[in-house]
Amino acid sequence: MPEATVLNRPLYPSSAADAIIRAEKIEKYYAQPSQSRIQVISATDLSIVPGEILALLGPSGSGKSTMLRMLSGLSTPSAGQVFWHGRPISQAEINVSIVFQSFALFPWLTVLDNVEAPLQARGVAPAVRRERSLKMLDTVGLDGFEAAYPKELSGGMRQRVGFARALVVEPEVLFMDEPFSALDVLTAENLRSELLELWAKKTMPTKAVFLVTHNIEEAVLLADRIIVLGRNPGRIRTDFQVQLAQPRDRKSEAFTQLVDYIYKVLTRPDAEPDQAPGPQSIPAVRDQRQMRYQMLPHARPGGIAGLLELVLDKGGRDDIYRLADDLAFEIDDLLPIVDAGQLLGYLKVEEGDAVITPNGEEFANSEILRQKELFRNAAVENVLLLRQIRRALDAKSDHTVPEEFFLDLLDEQFSEEESQRQMETAITWGRYAELFDFDSARRRFVLPDALDEDMAADQESK
Ligand code: ADP
Ligand code: MG
Repeated sequence: MPEATVLNRPLYPSSAADAIIRAEKIEKYYAQPSQSRIQVISATDLSIVPGEILALLGPSGSGKSTMLRMLSGLSTPSAGQVFWHGRPISQAEINVSIVFQSFALFPWLTVLDNVEAPLQARGVAPAVRRERSLKMLDTVGLDGFEAAYPKELSGGMRQRVGFARALVVEPEVLFMDEPFSALDVLTAENLRSELLELWAKKTMPTKAVFLVTHNIEEAVLLADRIIVLGRNPGRIRTDFQVQLAQPRDRKSEAFTQLVDYIYKVLTRPDAEPDQAPGPQSIPAVRDQRQMRYQMLPHARPGGIAGLLELVLDKGGRDDIYRLADDLAFEIDDLLPIVDAGQLLGYLKVEEGDAVITPNGEEFANSEILRQKELFRNAAVENVLLLRQIRRALDAKSDHTVPEEFFLDLLDEQFSEEESQRQMETAITWGRYAELFDFDSARRRFVLPDALDEDMAADQESK
């Protein structure tokens, strides 16, 4: 891998000691109505050091935005502390800006006024802020659009305004939360390379960039260092330097190796990650926490069947990355389906490939009624929540149990919102498998054939 040895920046530009931002054992939890609390981020150490673009990758809901908010001083950790040049961040004068996915421009202000707004807030004199804003608009390619309003602009141009507004204050650290994910593919690609160019040419005085993304390729394209977050609770699964020279070639061996490695980490949430490819990887941090309920991936049985058929069609094994590509799926859309296939014992993930198991093959080859039966067996065997619901229904003489009962159990472990989503998925799976039915008016689970059985029993006793 020749690319891997050519570095455009020093490998370890600085140590944690001269970090701009340093987080020490920060945690975040949210209070729950049931008095228990949900841990979103478990104790995490993380430093943002000068000279690097740091990408924070992770599935949605893993706490990336929560982490960004704590590191940028927008929110306070529930435990632990964040330091800005060694001083507690709440007492320091910090210089950061944030670019959000949703542009977050003031619709009633012109482009120029939007860019001037943060300078005005910092008390910069009118003439100076005008000059700096015009220059910044020029830099991001918005010359000529100063008087336009946000609604007159395309998404890509609005995000350029977002960048101009963030950069005009010359932040020491630029934070970005999925800044390209609302844009079409070409626009996103364009903006990414322009951002890199600004960074490489040192046109911006910014010393470090912290990028939140769920897009693996984006992270590998841009970042000097990548941290992968796992979820429930959010914690660092792997943290390594990317040793590829810029500009990076998506087709190069080293690039695809790294993408594969990250896929592997993301698709095996419970396994200890291997070392990242490359000579100087930092050892991964291991998660020790075991959860009682598995996190049900939000995938439909039809989607799982579809994926299994596709994998079978490809000879029983294919690269997850290529599968996503073939389906024109984002990783966030494909991974839950792969997760679900794994959970049910239909798929295994090996070296970044999805590999169908004998059970998966039987499922994919069966007709619909048999598929339901197989799914039912796999679900009862592998999914605690579904097994519990079914047991409770069998045990009760009226064969019905309120949803609330299981929501309370889930609430101990997941946020309220996630508990609801877990329940929705469980209902979808249980209905498909004919494990139970759900009376949505009364919010109760019922045995699908409870009525028939009652009637049969009545008949017999007569
Ligand atoms: P990501 O950015 O990786 O998608 P977030 O940081 O937005 O993840 O959220 C992580 C988890 O924290 C999610 O499960 C979310 O539901 C939960 N969460 C975020 N904000 C709150 C809040 N204010 N109250 C309760 N739960 C929250
Ligand atoms: Mg987010």
